Amino acid sequence: MKAFERVRKELLHASVVALCLVGLESAPIPLRAQGSNQDVELQIGQEIFGELKAKGEIVESSPLYEPLRPIAEAITRAAQPRYNHPFKFYLVHEPQPNAFAAPGGNVYVVDSLLYFVKNNDELVGTLCHEVSHTIHHDTVELMEKEEKILWREIGAAILLGAGRFQILGIALLGKLHSLSYSRDVESRADLTGSDICASAGYNPWGLVWLFQDFENAGRGDVPQLLSDHPNNQNRVNALERHFRENPSVFGKFSSDRKSAAPLSVPKNAPEVFLH
Ligand SMILES: [Zn+2]
Repeated sequence: MKAFERVRKELLHASVVALCLVGLESAPIPLRAQGSNQDVELQIGQEIFGELKAKGEIVESSPLYEPLRPIAEAITRAAQPRYNHPFKFYLVHEPQPNAFAAPGGNVYVVDSLLYFVKNNDELVGTLCHEVSHTIHHDTVELMEKEEKILWREIGAAILLGAGRFQILGIALLGKLHSLSYSRDVESRADLTGSDICASAGYNPWGLVWLFQDFENAGRGDVPQLLSDHPNNQNRVNALERHFRENPSVFGKFSSDRKSAAPLSVPKNAPEVFLH
């Protein structure tokens, strides 16, 4: 939690700087609301949700929730003991097939991702990877490292007259779409994600198959998801080593993608275009 305190202080400082820049006199209010038990991650997550909702991206109801629901429940059962806020899964409508997790426990799944993946295990692998970023607090850690970019966004948001949590939401939502984690951070999320997949009862090889799909897809077809980091083979190697080193967990899963159950997407789902 120390990291969040640091981020909180830095954001507070950023607010002060930005307020000074625009010539406002009012003192900044601490990010942690007085008397509130909610922590900063939860507050930030709620603001991100509010931003997505305001942009009309949250899909309230869709037949695509049918295949997503049992997967989300299985992942939540396996992952929840590792995180202190409830995981919740939402479909969102965006141009690129993608999935991203926000601090506070929300996991956003772009509807077209359900058409991009080739089977259940690839979808589960992707979501387990994203959930692992939340468990490891990677977003907040990255915010610390890229504070200059964040400060610029916060300054712009303040100029637009946004409230302090709204500012965080806007800044973070922008970041969630352009995160560039280090290879080590990505690999750590892969390994934790594979552990969660296995304990959720899904085949952890799904993530490996997904990387292979990306390799095989034409350049224009590769979604942003997992593709910002060209060292996919290193990540695949790390996953395979992890599987070999833990045969009691992973030995029972087949590396053959033909063994995977196809994802059945309801026929009455709205048409989604991948391009
Ligand atoms: Zn990642």
